[in-house]
Amino acid sequence: MNNYIKNNTGILIRIDDVCENMDWDLMKKLEVLFDKYSIKPVLGVIPNNKDEGFLSFSRNDNFWDQVRKWQDKGWEIVQHGYTHIYDKLCRKKSDYFNYGGGSEFFGHPLDIQEARIKKGLEKFKKEEIKIRAFFAPNQTYDENTFIALKNNGITEIIDGYGLMPYTEKNIKFIPQLFEKVILLPFGIQSTKLHTHTWKEIDYINFENFIKKNSNQIITYDQALAKINNNFFYKFLRFITTNVLKLKRLRLKKDSEYKIKEA
Ligand SMILES: [Zn+2]
Repeated sequence: MNNYIKNNTGILIRIDDVCENMDWDLMKKLEVLFDKYSIKPVLGVIPNNKDEGFLSFSRNDNFWDQVRKWQDKGWEIVQHGYTHIYDKLCRKKSDYFNYGGGSEFFGHPLDIQEARIKKGLEKFKKEEIKIRAFFAPNQTYDENTFIALKNNGITEIIDGYGLMPYTEKNIKFIPQLFEKVILLPFGIQSTKLHTHTWKEIDYINFENFIKKNSNQIITYDQALAKINNNFFYKFLRFITTNVLKLKRLRLKKDSEYKIKEA
């Protein structure tokens, strides 16, 4: 039993919003840290960033060279949207994972979603970057997003609920549950790190987490190898889905209440 738990507990490091404009000093520090502990993270690269939120960071004109270097190290490069512009609002949390909020994909007709995925993939191809997985900005998907991805040969997504990677709609999902970097006592899941928002203390906390848990950090291929669709994990997925949706709803209500109070 102990061995079973050990073999089925791990965390995949996913860094979001990788684009030309980043905190490059921080990225260098992270790279040194990952090399020291032989960690191969997943990088969510925006193929054609137009999100002005990132433009206050310094621009790396050799960005695609850098991405190729990361790929050569065995880091997994993943498509993260196309321009990262939210041009639809997902009201009433009607998206697939019930996050709600701004969307680059959810709510658009299939041809628009497909064109964005295709143009992104063309950019990666031109830059000689191999892509096999995707995750959407703000985690907002609808049925058309899944069809658009499959029509473009992408059948792996790093998002979802549950305690183990799973297959649904002929797509492989690697669960991503929390904002914070948390290692659960059991299960396989991915982080989502938004380094654009990090302060010094966030790096220190993350470094301490890595030092303590480096033997539990897995690669993208190791995560894929853990896909399990048995009844027990389906049941756990049902539970975590409902608990997390409820928790987010409650957090939202609390914050709304605070605004009213103030
Ligand atoms: Zn993003």
